Amino acid sequence: MQTFLIRTFGCQMNKHDSERVAGLLAEQGLCAVDIAEEADVVVFMTCCVRENADERLRGQVRSLKSVKAGRPGQLIAVGGCIGQRDGELLLRQIPHIDVVFGTHNIGHLPALLDSASTERLPQVEILAETDGFASELPSAREHPWHAWVPITVGCDNFCTYCVVPSVRGRERSRTLESVTLEVESLVADGVMEVTLLGQNVNSYGRDLYGEPRFAEVLRAVAGTGVQRIRFATSHPKDLSASTIEAMADLPAVVPYLHLPVQSGSDRVLKLMNRHYTADDYRALVARIRAAIPGISLSTDVIVGFPGETDADFEATLQLIAEVGYDQAFTFIYSPREGTPAATFADQVPRNVSQERLVRLVEVVQASAFERSVSFVDTVQPVLFEGTSKRDDLMLAGRAPSNRMVHVPVPEGHAAEEYTGRMCDVRIDAAQTWFLTGCMAGTDSP
Ligand code: SAH
Ligand code: SF4
Repeated sequence: MQTFLIRTFGCQMNKHDSERVAGLLAEQGLCAVDIAEEADVVVFMTCCVRENADERLRGQVRSLKSVKAGRPGQLIAVGGCIGQRDGELLLRQIPHIDVVFGTHNIGHLPALLDSASTERLPQVEILAETDGFASELPSAREHPWHAWVPITVGCDNFCTYCVVPSVRGRERSRTLESVTLEVESLVADGVMEVTLLGQNVNSYGRDLYGEPRFAEVLRAVAGTGVQRIRFATSHPKDLSASTIEAMADLPAVVPYLHLPVQSGSDRVLKLMNRHYTADDYRALVARIRAAIPGISLSTDVIVGFPGETDADFEATLQLIAEVGYDQAFTFIYSPREGTPAATFADQVPRNVSQERLVRLVEVVQASAFERSVSFVDTVQPVLFEGTSKRDDLMLAGRAPSNRMVHVPVPEGHAAEEYTGRMCDVRIDAAQTWFLTGCMAGTDSP
């Protein structure tokens, strides 16, 4: 039997796309393996948002040359955002690649692999526009109880640092009916939690219906009976009152929101083309917290954006400390070819950005710990995903807030009995990034 391995870089959309690729290859009769030495097909799903992911990908593909030499007939495919951006160039740089595909033609991968194998020639296919949503392809989900559900692809925002609109294209929404039908069939298939995906979910529907209809998606998806609804990402400029109202009304929508702020300086936010000020953001957070008390917030922050002064950075630190996030993803600005910011004057020296990042991370860790502590002595419904990476006698799962929760495997039970189940957990201790507790009540598998 032929085998495959998929390596995924980058965002949740790529994780979703990888599950579709796995579904397609499984449908062709291939089975998944864990190491490249045993794989007949190795697929890289790539990210080019920052330079380091870009470099890591090239390093990993290059290092497969000797593996491929030891496994005649092995095919290497590179897809996703780097495939879309670089096309033929990848083949010139790394000649042992067999297939390059992009973000718009995942469904063509089996045919491209077939041609590469029979013609013994590398295949490159990059489409300018999507020819359908990946959601119509088969899927092999990593976890049977969780599904990624893209509701939009692409982005119309053109933040000046960001390469996403050029590799994922303009924003396109799926119809409300197709999203609802998909979630209904996922629920029938045992899915308990869905994550609705889009670069800017709050503008869902603008292209199809002339106005955003994200709140309606939340209500329709909740109507399917799915137990938990997560979604990402929310652009602060588009997070509407109706969305906040739906989040507050619907018990299935978790009290957790990823709301990327990027900077706390109005000057930098303007240079980034974000369309809000730090005070707009503060006011939005206040409205969300008033409607959903105790909600957990996370964010993305870029340090060292061109022209960022010490004062700009202090404004960011101040805002981050003030909001009190549960988690923040912090990045050093990475110039991306073809984006406006890459040509801006006053690029910030690396050592300055690095120092800023260290200070920012300290503030983030302090508020993450404070938020963790606030869960001690509460009871949280935890959806178990398996065991902790470091201790297989410790169950690991997520609370609605997205916090990881560890619980000792109850005596007389095996860890596998809990995987994919939701149990109430009494939280008794807090670390910065996870909580520990014990089973509350009589939950047993
Ligand atoms: N659509 C989402 C996510 C886009 S990419 C959003 O708007 O939030 C995820 C994160 O990567 C961004 O939020 C931003 O913080 C970061 N990012 C994007 N381009 C970057 C760049 N050129 N350098 C550093 N970080 C970047
Ligand atoms: Fe990139 Fe901005 Fe679109 Fe997010 S909203 S994908 S950061 S352009």
